[in-house]
Amino acid sequence: TTDSVPDKFQGFASDKKENWNKPKLVSYDRKQINPHDVVLENEVCGLCYSDIHTLQSNWGGYNRDDLVVGHEIVGKVIAIGEKVTEFKIGQRVGIGAASSACRECNRCKSNNEQYCPKAASTYNGIDVRSNNYVTQGGYSSHSIADEQFVFPIPDDLPSAYAAPLMCAGITVFSPLLRNLGSDAKGKTVGIIGIGGLGHLALQLAKALGAKVVAFSRTSSKKDQALKLGADEFIATNEEKDWSSKYHDTFDFILNCASGVDGLNLQDYLSVLKVDKKFISVGLPPATEQFGVSPFTFLKHGASFGSSLLGSKVEVLEMLKLAAKHNVKPWIEEIPISEENCSKALNRCHDGDVRYRFVFTEFDKAFAK
Ligand code: NDP
Ligand code: ZN
Repeated sequence: TTDSVPDKFQGFASDKKENWNKPKLVSYDRKQINPHDVVLENEVCGLCYSDIHTLQSNWGGYNRDDLVVGHEIVGKVIAIGEKVTEFKIGQRVGIGAASSACRECNRCKSNNEQYCPKAASTYNGIDVRSNNYVTQGGYSSHSIADEQFVFPIPDDLPSAYAAPLMCAGITVFSPLLRNLGSDAKGKTVGIIGIGGLGHLALQLAKALGAKVVAFSRTSSKKDQALKLGADEFIATNEEKDWSSKYHDTFDFILNCASGVDGLNLQDYLSVLKVDKKFISVGLPPATEQFGVSPFTFLKHGASFGSSLLGSKVEVLEMLKLAAKHNVKPWIEEIPISEENCSKALNRCHDGDVRYRFVFTEFDKAFAK
């Protein structure tokens, strides 16, 4: 039953964009528990650059003035709605960047539930199936999500290492799988932006069997990128004419950068093989745009697109592949507190993390 779930949850919240890096401990009314919902006591949560974009209002405003972000959540199931069959109390599970959808539309029924027009983001989203509750993220004591957006965590994967897979991992895995298939031997893939998403993309593309080329703005991450699985490394700000050497090379390019300055789309389109795609999962502030001429597409028959998170089926496939090939995020664990939320948000904003912060020690931060 759900009687044991507290009516109020606790979390680290910001009230407005000026305070994006100063979350304060607050308590707030929780969402209603629907028949397919799973309630977690949170154990760890990763810090995704989307948290910063949202807190800084780079994509739009706050939908509440006690906004808690965080969407790489792992915790323990403490209650389930009456229709949940997949999960048991006490089980360790994860939640990513979406927390519910309609369960009925074509997309929900064809393993594209993340694209459901009624899908709710894990934080700052409107949950239309819960009285338009404005959702709250995982820098918090508890989370609630529909079971379609809850993922079982393999026993031998520690929670802090599982967390970044819930958003960063699946966001890069879905487009890699959809564009390369599950056997990418003989294919060459480019990964742009070696951060939280990018460092997992290098590993997952390698695990699929591809030859992998890392693109980073400077050479500072070269040795680490090679260790993560890159076969080659290009520092785009230091080798300005790199594209002339790579004509007709790439079967797929995945952009994981959180901004667009210094990212020359013409160069990337010009190194694709014919009929191939450049997909951007990286999302800059809403005001920033790519500049590209139609002729650049024309000369390579190139396509350009985007990709949002991944489906539950893909999450399960990713977890299997990760276990088989020992794909693991490189993390910096940091006990959750007001001071450490501030520190980690500032450092991630400044690009000072190798490669993912994961907040821990939730039991000490939140009073029972
Ligand atoms: P990180 O900060 O960990 O990594 C981003 C990387 O992008 C940096 O390491 C850097 O790589 C590069 N970069 C940073 N600033 C710029 C800039 N101004 N111009 C060009 N490159 C830049 O972020 P995350 O990996 O957590 O997130 C990456 C992006 O993905 C964010 O925009 C996030 O919002 C988005 N995202 C999208 C999702 C989706 O479903 N589509 C889901 C989750 C996140 P280097 O130093 O190697 O150049
Ligand atoms: Zn994310």
